[in-house]
Amino acid sequence: MIEEVVSAHLPVGETLRIQKNRIEGAEPKKRRLAIVTGTHGDELEGQYVAWQLARVLKKRQPLLRGTVDIYPALNPLGISTIYRGLPGFDLDMNRIFPGSSEETMYEYIAGGIIEDIAGADLCIDIHASNIFLREIPQVRINEQSAEMLLPLAKFLNMNFLWVHSAATVLESTLAYSLNSLGTPTLVVEMGVGMRITKSYGDQLITGILSVMSQLFMLEEPCPPVAPPIVSTDGNVAFVNANASGIFIPRVRHEERVEEGQLLGLIADPLSGGVREELHSPASGLIFTLREYPVVNEGSLIARILGGAL
Ligand SMILES: [Zn+2]
Repeated sequence: MIEEVVSAHLPVGETLRIQKNRIEGAEPKKRRLAIVTGTHGDELEGQYVAWQLARVLKKRQPLLRGTVDIYPALNPLGISTIYRGLPGFDLDMNRIFPGSSEETMYEYIAGGIIEDIAGADLCIDIHASNIFLREIPQVRINEQSAEMLLPLAKFLNMNFLWVHSAATVLESTLAYSLNSLGTPTLVVEMGVGMRITKSYGDQLITGILSVMSQLFMLEEPCPPVAPPIVSTDGNVAFVNANASGIFIPRVRHEERVEEGQLLGLIADPLSGGVREELHSPASGLIFTLREYPVVNEGSLIARILGGAL
């Protein structure tokens, strides 16, 4: 059933409406899972997951216990206009939570979204990367909530659980706000902006079914999932460009590399020269790789997951 979560009037008689697809099984009030995506309008990986998950769950409805709410578009205008933030406001929607009923229209919308999700047994907030970087399927968890979130995150069928230090936590995100309210919220990052990577989406759907089994929301055996690598900031090495130019990779995303291995070049198309050779600072897995070729000094090129691999 399609339901309105919150809405607001736009200046010329249009209405901004946030909607969800509510799928109910037996004892709908007993458990609730919220699947949320589309906060950043240029991240589309979650669109496939929202669509396909609804179809998979409708087929399994006789086995379903509790309620699954799928929110495909928290920022519908951003998605419609290929705009990462909130069109017209130059704001990142994931910086205005928990919102407020008395401030701007978008803070009111953010407040309505939080109110609707709060109290769920679990929320999964699906992000893609931006258009610049490609990411392997991963869950990002802030250290403060790790104890609450890790046990369920391990069933989500993602390759990697990255436990972030509390120092880098952004308090105005949807996930931080919900976790602070005691609604466990897992942030998934996968793929790349403006594209859909179907294999990643299918991998996550298997993980969602597995988590639902753990929450006793599906009366069927838990689908087998691969155990993820769990890592903290200490195992992650960053590679940034020291020159501007065009990045030409010499490795593939998800490849394992050795310390010192050539990752790519920063090319100078005008002279035919090479401005920089980028080498891996550690042996490990390339879990983030630059997708968009134009780079500036300081641009992130790769993240390598080192350590026990
Ligand atoms: Zn995002």
